[in-house]
Amino acid sequence: MMAGAILVQNTAWSGAKQAVDALKLAGLLSPSAIRTADPAALGAVIRPAGYFNLKTRRLKSLCEFLGRYDDDLARLFAQPKEILRAELLGVWGVGKETADSIVCYEAKQPLFVVDAYTRRLFHRLGWTDAKAGYDTLQDLVHGALPADADLFGQFHALIVHHAKAHCRSKPACPGCPLAARCRLAQGESL
Ligand code: SF4
Repeated sequence: MMAGAILVQNTAWSGAKQAVDALKLAGLLSPSAIRTADPAALGAVIRPAGYFNLKTRRLKSLCEFLGRYDDDLARLFAQPKEILRAELLGVWGVGKETADSIVCYEAKQPLFVVDAYTRRLFHRLGWTDAKAGYDTLQDLVHGALPADADLFGQFHALIVHHAKAHCRSKPACPGCPLAARCRLAQGESL
């Protein structure tokens, strides 16, 4: 999952999944294997995820970091979420979305993951303005829902589902279950 969190950066999950599967097939899906892999060979394996040179360096950077914990994820994840997040953000190539994905989905600690779908939907609903930053959107969710990693994960999955079913780049508003609450659908300029 941590490899997936890097591989999915700036690409669709289908490409990241292909790359994760290829890593597994090549026997490279472990921190030690990634640390010691030849960069060119690793890049060739993860090519389906795109930006493979950059992602090779990022995977290696993350795995070097894990090595500081002797690859003991339980020890890493046992830290309070604020410390864990700060540690992950100190890893080259790990930004807020990637760090929070690892904290919420892998460490099972409650931090909501903000992505482009969240940003688009919240703005169209009129909950946030177009320039709202990552922290603003995350704070909104943290203030509205109980702190529960599974609940945050479910909520995010629903946002993704909705963004694919209706709230696409070009929105399909007829039949959207949120239309009555949506400022864009009500004709307001956002
Ligand atoms: S009504 Fe349209 S813009 Fe609003 S949430 Fe639904 S699909 Fe998106």
